[in-house]
Amino acid sequence: MTSSGEVVVALDVGGTGMKCALVRPDGTTVHVERHATEASRGPEAVVGTILDVAEGLAGKARADGLTAVACGIAVPGVVDEARGVAVWSANVGFRDVPLRELAQARLGLPTALGHDVRVGGLAEARLGAGRDADHVLFVAIGTGIAAAHVVHGSAAAGAHGAAGEIGHILVRPDGPRCGCGRPGCLEAVASASAIGRRYAELAGAPATAADVADRAAAGEPLAGRVWQEAVEALADGLATGQALFDVETVVLGGGLAQAGARLLDPLRAALRERLTFHREPRLVAAALGDEAGCLGAALLALDARA
Ligand SMILES: [Zn+2]
Repeated sequence: MTSSGEVVVALDVGGTGMKCALVRPDGTTVHVERHATEASRGPEAVVGTILDVAEGLAGKARADGLTAVACGIAVPGVVDEARGVAVWSANVGFRDVPLRELAQARLGLPTALGHDVRVGGLAEARLGAGRDADHVLFVAIGTGIAAAHVVHGSAAAGAHGAAGEIGHILVRPDGPRCGCGRPGCLEAVASASAIGRRYAELAGAPATAADVADRAAAGEPLAGRVWQEAVEALADGLATGQALFDVETVVLGGGLAQAGARLLDPLRAALRERLTFHREPRLVAAALGDEAGCLGAALLALDARA
């Protein structure tokens, strides 16, 4: 029972908030904190807050008679996990921040830095909706669309830390312009923000993707059309994903996945239509909700310690 008091410090840093926890090696959470990111203060201030919060969590562990043995931090954007560097982030403003080194120096603990969606995928694949499969594609659909390909519990980061950007698969060459600058990317058509925007444009009144899902389910023709357009685009993206990765399970996370069967049922049908010789993956909703990133950061920390 020598390890019964061991925990890892886990932080999931988002554009608006940080989800933080102390997590035991078996994946159970013993303490949770949330903090504001306040990205408008600039990247240096955000890094300062990350280090303060991590140090505070390690102190909290000590005060509770626990031993913090490692730290895991998840951040958005482009992340060089091998070097532990937050290379670039649009919503937090990171430019080549050596976050792993900074955290190790402050905490005196082995630290791992990961990409928010990749660690979320890691958590879903190991502990959540993909836990029965060895080959999992986790797709987070929110303000953007990004994915993580997890094989035997390990997520591939790519040569430059930018693997899994399924949101920038070209699905509608004549479609709306994407945040990346090119017209017709999947996330410009089928992200939660894109769905709300499209409906608002056609209806002349503001709406969220959740409103569109509700109105489509209630039989409103315009909402039904906008919803179906998004479903078809997502199916195009997932068919490309399946052609590349041949997974057993596709786990859908992010805000849009909260539509549940209203998304999964038509998407499953549309994906089936597009597959020829490829095997159809199981299509399921994420199980860990917005805890996935924090749990994934904890898993990275445990891996870093091993
Ligand atoms: Zn794009």
